Amino acid sequence: MAKIVTGDLRLNDAKMLLRQAGYAVADHDAEADAAHLQAIIDGLCEISSSDALTGLANLRQFRALLEQELDRVARTGAPMSLLLIDCDHFKSVNDTYGHPVGDLVLQSIAHRLREDMRPMDTPCRYGGEEFSLILPNCTPVHAERVAGRIRGSIEQNPLTLTDGRSLRVTVSIGVACVAPWQKLERDVLMETADRQLYRAKTGGRNRVAIDAPAEQGVSAPERSALFIEE
Ligand code: GH3
Ligand code: MG
Ligand code: MG
Repeated sequence: MAKIVTGDLRLNDAKMLLRQAGYAVADHDAEADAAHLQAIIDGLCEISSSDALTGLANLRQFRALLEQELDRVARTGAPMSLLLIDCDHFKSVNDTYGHPVGDLVLQSIAHRLREDMRPMDTPCRYGGEEFSLILPNCTPVHAERVAGRIRGSIEQNPLTLTDGRSLRVTVSIGVACVAPWQKLERDVLMETADRQLYRAKTGGRNRVAIDAPAEQGVSAPERSALFIEE
């Protein structure tokens, strides 16, 4: 097998990216040192799977993790749930307070998601002002509780601006659940969560809407009752 001449590798761009992302990259010539190269590779993997503004998993990682979880449900029979979380009237936050404050709001939502989850849950920035939370081993009843807790905690923890004013935002949450052993395509689950998010929005925002799987014997009136009016 041909030996890699590590001195020929162009590592400067990689090092610059990592330094910009706040990583301490040693400035030595020991590229031949396998541990040094591995640290650079690990850092690149990390920044390519996380969102630069919030530090949460990005869309790429979210898709891979969701695929993995759906596979696990089909193989092991453990249920799972997915939350889609969208900040309400976020455009008017940007319009009123400016884009940098909008960014702070997104960071504070990310912080709340991290605070309110179990160690096995993964919060992601799905895009713009939309987040998602993958909940392994989570039944519809628990997912609804988690969603309600997140909704409440974001509403109750306003952001304090530099001038002392406080800025309160709310979120709407769509919940979709996968029953034990159910084989489901990623896009089908996403569409279900998105439909529920739409219901939460059209139902008045700052609320949770849930789609519980038919396999669990939830009747139409029960489903409708699960659409919590806060
Ligand atoms: P709704 O309650 O229906 O969700 O209304 P909304 O205003 O939250 O939704 P809309 O889709 O109209 O606006 C989303 C806004 O999010 C528009 C876009 O400029 C802003 N946005 C997207 N990404 C970012 C970001 O990274 N930072 C900031 N500050 N704003 C962002
Ligand atoms: Mg949105
Ligand atoms: Mg929004």
